[in-house]
This record gives sequence, structure tokens and C-alpha cells, in this order.
Amino acid sequence: MPTIIEPFRIHSVEPLRMSTAAERREAIVKAGYNLFSLRSEDVLIDLLTDSGTGAMSSEQWACVQRGDEAYAGSPSWYRFEAAVKELFPFAHVIPTHQGRAAEKILMAAIGGPGLVIPSNTHFDTTRANIEATGAEAVDLPIAEGLDPALEHPFKGNMDLGRLDALLSARRDDVPAVFVTITNNSGGGQPVSLENLRGVRALCDRHRVPLFLDACRFAENAWFIRERESGQGGRDVADIVREIAALADGMTMSAKKDGLANIGGWLAVRDDRLAARCRNLLILTEGFPTYGGLAGRDLDAIAQGLKEVVQHDYLRYRIRSTDYLGDGLHAAGIPVMRPSGGHAVYLDARALLPHIPPLQYPGQALAIALYEAGGIRSCEIGTVMFGRHPDGSETAAALDLVRLAIPRRTYTQSHIDYVVEVCTEVAARAGELRGYRIVDEPPALRHFTARFEPLAK
Ligand SMILES: *Cc1c(COP(=O)(O)O)cnc(C)c1O
Repeated sequence: MPTIIEPFRIHSVEPLRMSTAAERREAIVKAGYNLFSLRSEDVLIDLLTDSGTGAMSSEQWACVQRGDEAYAGSPSWYRFEAAVKELFPFAHVIPTHQGRAAEKILMAAIGGPGLVIPSNTHFDTTRANIEATGAEAVDLPIAEGLDPALEHPFKGNMDLGRLDALLSARRDDVPAVFVTITNNSGGGQPVSLENLRGVRALCDRHRVPLFLDACRFAENAWFIRERESGQGGRDVADIVREIAALADGMTMSAKKDGLANIGGWLAVRDDRLAARCRNLLILTEGFPTYGGLAGRDLDAIAQGLKEVVQHDYLRYRIRSTDYLGDGLHAAGIPVMRPSGGHAVYLDARALLPHIPPLQYPGQALAIALYEAGGIRSCEIGTVMFGRHPDGSETAAALDLVRLAIPRRTYTQSHIDYVVEVCTEVAARAGELRGYRIVDEPPALRHFTARFEPLAK
């Protein structure tokens, strides 16, 4: 049958609080026009992020009951470690409370002033943790990745020519190369195995370690299975192990492809680096067999890692995201093509050409979607990336609005409603106004900045 159904049925439900447009206009003013500052009860369909917002399975909830809360050496820890190593056989697995804690520890160990860390595209917390050490974070996506309308199977790939040039010029300043799978900030687009092998070859040639930001490893592996020649018949778990074998370590947020509500880890091959990282871990996260997580969380992640590589789950997951992307595309709304694994990205710069990047077209569109339909999305553009450590501000490469799909959470009619709201807003795009920032912190400003609409 052509319809790919959810490979689960609903076991417990969370009511949504219906709201009116007038209530939402009041709420967004109070929030300083920042969607992160809304109360989530004032949101109808929450597509702010797919991070930690998914539904756990009945097996995962059973694992929560089984969690063992021993401070050191808990059975939950050993189940977690075994589940991670089943897919990522690195010698050292270091649990953290979420992905950015793994980044902070790793960057504290390898970063520092004068150094540079390239990536296909750094995620915002990765970039911030690199810059916090005084190092420079450089994005080297392929040119195709920067053209939102272009169809290409692996728009998350890294530009090997530019990586080679950077490593040739500054090899001694590069403590590691990062590859983000899938490329979240670049549209949730996958990286091919061929490209990963190419990055590995350059890292070998220049003797630089390769790290994965592996948050959506299963979605990326599914895309490899579907789109890369010669990969079609493979087991996703096998593809994941091949990806792991190409790297020297990884950072991970279990809130994504861990199918859990919290958690993460850092994994490395190198014994000395692992020892340094564990010492840092103890300062801020906790003992190395729990790393800021409860035993029940470790158990839920261990089970999530078994479920996330199941083909029925991934087939449904990728198709349900694409269902939204196809619906918007068919309605004539400019979206990043093809759909990402976890999200669909509206091209706000294309939809709102009358709003210049420094008046934040992405923010304007995100606010309009909230006011019109109670949809919470996330600006990924000049608000998120436009401000630099020296205080200057420039347009980001793209002004996108991300509609991130929580895992196993919303049904097809929720998504049909989202398409209807987007279509209604797009029909009156010319009326939308830009915004200015009235208050912002020095780093990661998108989380807490306050905005004001500009006069017509
Ligand atoms: C979410 C995410 C992170 C950070 O993980 P947290 O658990 O939110 O701290 C890092 N990189 C990518 C690509 C992400 O999507």
C-alpha cells in the first residue's frame, strides 16, 4: 500500500489547550516576540525542536521503572554503555546530561585561542562552545548545501576541497575536524558515506582526528540506505557502525536519535583524551558512570538506541517529515529541498524578499505562524548566527524557519493543519513586517533576545 503508517498506536494522550488568535497575540507580546519565551501551554503544535520532545515507547517506560540509582557502577550504566558500543564501538563512553555538555568538555580539552575547528556546519551550541575557548569555528558545507531550492541527495556533505586547503595551510592549528550528521543547521540534510570517507582520508593525510556530532545518526544512516548507490540492502545498524569506524570520537545528544527526553554522551578512542575529559566531567556533570543522568534515563536511552535503528521506525519517521515538506512544496511555499530528516525548513528570505536579513525575516515568519495558528517554530538564520564574538552583525548564509518534528508525537491531521496555517500566512506574506532586537545577551542570543516589530 502507498500509505506508510505509524508503526505504533497511541497508549496515553496529552491534551492540547486550544487558543484563539487574540490570546496568542497577547502571549507573544508578553514573550518579547521570542518564541522560546512562550509558555508551552500557549502553543498548539510545538515544532520548536525535535530535541527531547518525542514520545517514549512502552518498553522505554518499562526501562524507567528498571532504572537502578546506584551512584557508581549501576546496572543501568552498563546497559547504557553496551547499547552505545553496539553501534559506536569507541573505547571510552562518557555520559553527559545532554549534547552540549559533551561539547563543552571536549572543547575544553582540545580547544583554545588561535585554534580552528572546521565542520560541514557547526550546530549553534557546538559553535558557542568552540568560541568560548577562544578557538574559531569554521563551516565548510558544499556549495549545493547553500542553495535551498536545489534538489541534491546529500546536501549535508562537507566541501573536501576547502577542507584540504584549510588543513594544508593551518594543520597545526586544527585540533579536530567535525562532521554533523545530519547537518541540522544546514537543513537536516544528510552526509554520504562517500563524503565521510573523503573527510577521513584528508584527516589521515594531515594527521588530524575526526569527530562526529552524531545527534541524528540513525536518520542519516537511513538516508544513506535510501539514496547512496550500493547501500540499499544494508542494515541501518551496520551503516552506523561503518560511520563510527571512520571517526575518532563523537558527541551526542540522546534527546534526538536516543529517543529519550534527556541525555547525551561523549565517546573517544584515545585513552589520554578520555582521561582528561573524565576529569572535566567530574567537575560539572558527575561520576563517570552516570554523568549527570539518573539511572532510569540511562536505561531509557539504552532501549531508545535499539528502537531508533529499526527500519519500520525510520521509514515512518523520514516519510512523515517528507509528508509535511511535500505538502508545503505543493502549496507553492518556498521550502528547503529535499526535506530534512527531522525538520522542514521554510525559506523566509525567499518568501519575504521585502524584509532585509538584518530585520530578521525568519523571526517575522515564525511569529506570524504562531499568531495565525499557534505553531511554534524556530528561526535558523540571522537571529541565530548573525552576531559575531566581536559584537558585529552580518546576514547569515540563509534565513530559514525550522519546523522540527518531535519523534512519534504528532499525527497526520496535525501536520495537515500546519500546512493550512503556513498556506494562509504565505498568502499574505507581503503584509509581514521586520523586527529589531531591543535586548540581547552576548552569546546564543536567539534563546533570550527581546524583539519589537518595525513600523510599516
Ligand atoms: C541538539 C544538538 C546539539 C546539542 O545537544 P543538546 O542535547 O541540545 O545539548 C548539538 N549538535 C546538534 C547537531 C544538535 O542537533
